[in-house]
Amino acid sequence: MSHLCFLNGTAILPDRLLPDAVIVCRDERITYVGTARSRVPASAKIIDAKGGYISPGFVDIHIHGGGGADVMDGSLDAVRTVSQSHARHGTTTMFPTTSTGTDNQIHAMLAACSEVRDTWNIQSGSKIAGVHLYGPYFAKGKTGCHDESVCRAPEATEYRRYFESGIVGIATCAAELPGAAAFYRHANKRGCLVTCGHSNSSWDEMEAAFKNGMRHVDHFWCAMSNVSSVRKRLGVPMQGSMLEYVLANPEMSTEVIADGMHLAPELLSFAWRMKGSERLCLVTDCNRALDMPPGKYRFGPEADGSWFTSDGQVGWASPGSLASSVMGMDHMVRTMHKVGNVPLQDAVRMASLTPAERTGIDQQIGSLTAGKQADIVLLSKTLKVKQVHINGERLQIMLRK
Ligand SMILES: [Zn+2]
Ligand SMILES: [Zn+2]
Repeated sequence: MSHLCFLNGTAILPDRLLPDAVIVCRDERITYVGTARSRVPASAKIIDAKGGYISPGFVDIHIHGGGGADVMDGSLDAVRTVSQSHARHGTTTMFPTTSTGTDNQIHAMLAACSEVRDTWNIQSGSKIAGVHLYGPYFAKGKTGCHDESVCRAPEATEYRRYFESGIVGIATCAAELPGAAAFYRHANKRGCLVTCGHSNSSWDEMEAAFKNGMRHVDHFWCAMSNVSSVRKRLGVPMQGSMLEYVLANPEMSTEVIADGMHLAPELLSFAWRMKGSERLCLVTDCNRALDMPPGKYRFGPEADGSWFTSDGQVGWASPGSLASSVMGMDHMVRTMHKVGNVPLQDAVRMASLTPAERTGIDQQIGSLTAGKQADIVLLSKTLKVKQVHINGERLQIMLRK
């Protein structure tokens, strides 16, 4: 039995900051969160936060790649590279995310993620809580940087086998596709967070989807419908879109890519003011160019994914058209707080407890709470990642800079 104790920092709790915090862990769990020095066991190993912040580890429900690899490469090496690269940015739990790909490519990805999850140790980096089955069920014309030629409507014989892998925890489908209703009901029955994305669906289609268990929309404002895009598809009278539906329905959650490149500061702030920190998640939606030099990379499978260019700030599918982010979750938290003007405890909640709640894993992770896993990130006063602890163990592979 070994005790770990974090001192000399401000703890970031879901609803407030706790200065001069004392956080005690025993083995892989948190046992105390408060300010009483008397709770520090004599034998505890002390970790000095040096006046910075003690944050819960980040939870990312939308990750494609990092460190040069994409989870759709489908190998153990690729998945581990992605997990390690995001762990260095404070992400302790992740949902590797499929892009549009062939049936074989998706099965290879599911198998690799399952094996990396089942053989996890601290060297693996971020823990895998489940896979986000994201592509291939996207609406044509809303595929963004994904390869449209392999995007398709959901077929039960195909997707039932994906769910049988037992690792799918989040499931996306565009609501207007034929077969979407059955897909949503199946994903809901399997306990997934059910989401609508890369879609041009109308209010009525969203309402029908909601009845079938859909509760979340991927990357708000990106590859989703608005009143004028629905008008182009369905004519007049103008109808509500995904945007109005998410803002009007308090049960619906969504996510923003808070890298400062996809959305302007007022949109980040607006999303938080409209949905609140309990219904808005921060995601990286990061591709393989995280921590890689600017250059050309493949989005999705290394063998045949579509090309994009990273300029070191963001990915570009073509000039003026974005191809997901190249930043880790620490950057998203900093941007949401400093540029979006969102209180720090809210920015961190949206990157930890909220995604854990929406995916049903908040009993185990997502906040600095006694009884939860000791997934703890030390941040400097300027919110740079200093140390990452997962299940009470310290990650040794840190950022080079
Ligand atoms: Zn997307
Ligand atoms: Zn994505």
